Amino acid sequence: MIITIDGPAGSGKGTIAAALAEKYKMAYFDTGMVYRAVGLQMVLDGASLEDEDKAASLAEKLTFPQMIALSENKDFRSDTGSRAASIVSAYPKVRAALLTMQKNFALNPVFADGSPASGAIYDGRDTGTVICPQADLKLYVIADLTVRAQRRCRDLNAAGHKISFEQVYEDMKARDDRDMNRSTAPLKPAPDAVIIDTSAFQLEDSLRVIEPLIDKKLAELSGK
Ligand code: C5P
Repeated sequence: MIITIDGPAGSGKGTIAAALAEKYKMAYFDTGMVYRAVGLQMVLDGASLEDEDKAASLAEKLTFPQMIALSENKDFRSDTGSRAASIVSAYPKVRAALLTMQKNFALNPVFADGSPASGAIYDGRDTGTVICPQADLKLYVIADLTVRAQRRCRDLNAAGHKISFEQVYEDMKARDDRDMNRSTAPLKPAPDAVIIDTSAFQLEDSLRVIEPLIDKKLAELSGK
């Protein structure tokens, strides 16, 4: 069973994906981390984020273990890391370099310790449209921009990054704009995606809506 969960930053898709992966014992692929790894490596190398060829060459070279190592860096999820990821992810050459590794995960899903899993949950922007158009269930998670910025600001402050709500709001608006208007794999729902609006939801509310969809699909797949 393959599930894709796409949507803008702060919509709650990452938290939902992690909770579902835990409950249904499925492998979890946070695809944003591959773009964060490339973006952060550009920053650490002192490269210009405008340099598409350099970003593409890093995307071709970085191994998955190197990406995991980069995820330990304090800036991986900071506003610096988010901005860098959003800029490099708009480059067609970068997306092309990272396409196969993301697609292959669905063929052979594994847990973080390398053991095989019977299914995968993808979390990203184009996982239902480009990476796994064959997915069994596609979700597109949205929320009001102000709510998303409040959530993100709270998480960043809790992690020790001092940043104002206004700054987070503006950064998020710019990221939404880049993600939705880029030429390659823009952020949009797959035609057969189920839209979930989490603006007024806590995690439990989202799970109450989504779990019956998964249970139904699992029953269909097992022929019941
Ligand atoms: O999901 P996350 O916020 O970690 O993603 C970081 C950035 O990577 C996003 O702002 C987006 O620009 C990019 N991204 C993407 N395609 C994906 C996942 C993330 O373009 N499938």
